[in-house]
Amino acid sequence: MRNLEERIQKLAQWIFEANYLVVFTGAGISTESGLPDFRGPDGIWTRQDKGLPPPPRLFSEVEPNAGHDAIVELQKLGKLRFLISQNVDNLHLQSGIRPDLLAELHGNTTKLRCLRCKVQVDKSLGLKTCSCGSPLVSSVVNFGDPLPAKELHDSFDHASRCDLFIVVGSSLVVSPANEMPRTALRSGARLVIINKGETPLDSSCHLRFDEKIGKVLPPAVERLKKIMRKGKR
Ligand code: ZN
Repeated sequence: MRNLEERIQKLAQWIFEANYLVVFTGAGISTESGLPDFRGPDGIWTRQDKGLPPPPRLFSEVEPNAGHDAIVELQKLGKLRFLISQNVDNLHLQSGIRPDLLAELHGNTTKLRCLRCKVQVDKSLGLKTCSCGSPLVSSVVNFGDPLPAKELHDSFDHASRCDLFIVVGSSLVVSPANEMPRTALRSGARLVIINKGETPLDSSCHLRFDEKIGKVLPPAVERLKKIMRKGKR
């Protein structure tokens, strides 16, 4: 299907039909808020390879965009069962996603984590130790470090239960996060990929968007609302 309108309609229909929707987001959703990605032309790692400092844009200056808001709409419509994110920018929570529906695989720049009991607290509280007595450290996972166990477990668990898995703004090259859509596929879920640029799962997904997220997800949610209204009549 080449036509964008047709694919958006199909996506909306699939979200309507889904009993268990899992959304997976990567840096691509936040680049539309002005945050740099990792491997793009002005990405953090591309710049690092060239010996350049990180791009000047700071996390704290950035606001959620239409893509984040569309996922919040899915939550309000009772359609979002779980959201897995590779992003550390806090934009999902800032946009209104319920913390119990979210796994941040790489941590969150605004949160500290206890080394022992793994509880997370807001950095803004200024605490240095957890109520259990152990030190609080940055929750952000450094490259090469293990991902937080509960977040990882929950993500694979939801991926294995879902019937629709939507990848939003990830090139699906970082392991083990890139295994989650494969888990969903093995469980018989439909796989949708919205990402500018190739991914290793392009040939196995059921619906592919190479367009900007803001051009796909918000209109798909609007269509979904229409379908839901019709369904009620
Ligand atoms: Zn603790």
